[in-house]
Amino acid sequence: MTGEPVLELDGVVKHFGPVRAVDGVSLTIAPGEVLGLVGESGSGKSTLGRCVVALTPVTAGRVLLNGVDLVPLSRRRLRPLRRGVNIVFQDPSGSLNPRMTVADIITEPLRLHRIGNPASRRERLRELLDAVGLRAELARRHPHELSGGQRQRVSLARALSAGPALLVADEPTSALDVSVQAAVLNLIARLQAELGFACLFITHDLAAVEFLAQRIAVMYLGQLVEVAGRAELFATPRHPYTQALLSAAPVPDPAVQRTRRRIVLTGDIPSPVRPPTGCRFHTRCPLAETRCLVEEPLLRPVGPNGTLVACHLVAPDGTAPPLTA
Ligand code: SF4
Repeated sequence: MTGEPVLELDGVVKHFGPVRAVDGVSLTIAPGEVLGLVGESGSGKSTLGRCVVALTPVTAGRVLLNGVDLVPLSRRRLRPLRRGVNIVFQDPSGSLNPRMTVADIITEPLRLHRIGNPASRRERLRELLDAVGLRAELARRHPHELSGGQRQRVSLARALSAGPALLVADEPTSALDVSVQAAVLNLIARLQAELGFACLFITHDLAAVEFLAQRIAVMYLGQLVEVAGRAELFATPRHPYTQALLSAAPVPDPAVQRTRRRIVLTGDIPSPVRPPTGCRFHTRCPLAETRCLVEEPLLRPVGPNGTLVACHLVAPDGTAPPLTA
């Protein structure tokens, strides 16, 4: 990675009372990089996304945006920095003000950050509508007059209107009809390539991260268990949880799909109120040994490509024991 990261998370913790939703996450995102964050529901990935955009205050740790730690800042000092990061949510209906027109929704960040004048904002609105594939006449409509896919396009245009360096996309396609999911995913990929913003792409959909992300972080019960380049992760998943996740994902090639052995994890994700001792994955891990119950594995570099894994059984050269069904 070259240059200063757009985002640096350093030991981020977020507890909601006794619930340890995020429990010590450190990672960086480089300018223009797309990092996919995957995990089951309940893994804490959406909470982490909200911490990144300062919608949820962290319990401990640092959240650095372009080198500036957002955590100690007052709301007033935070406001100008919010221009640098924005978020798109799973359900666009909840994040779009039903009383505002599409034009007002999209240009609101420009007014809040005092960017441009009314004429330049109208011009920017035209550019943004065009960029997200919406017809200009939709600008006068309200959110309830749009389809789900159109609403998500409006959310994207709004999130990008002030030119953020980082976009957090939290399951941006999972509330949409299957038929429009691919179109919105393609749109995010095209806009990211054209505009060059970095992206934290949060999803449970492995096919989506394989399509979009350059690096992938796997989260389990509030912690990262593996961080690797896309090709490396899909070719050589090392953490037993990553191996299980990938084994359950459909493969486009039916011949490969037939030879695939699906590893079914038993049990649900444990409660984040009382996470298991030692390795948090030990209650579901087919390879768990005695020390996994008492000794917490640290996220550490393995192999030649900077992959990070938190598992006692992965050797320093990256060799990992395969899971069997
Ligand atoms: Fe499984 Fe032990 Fe590795 Fe945890 S540390 S993933 S329980 S083998």
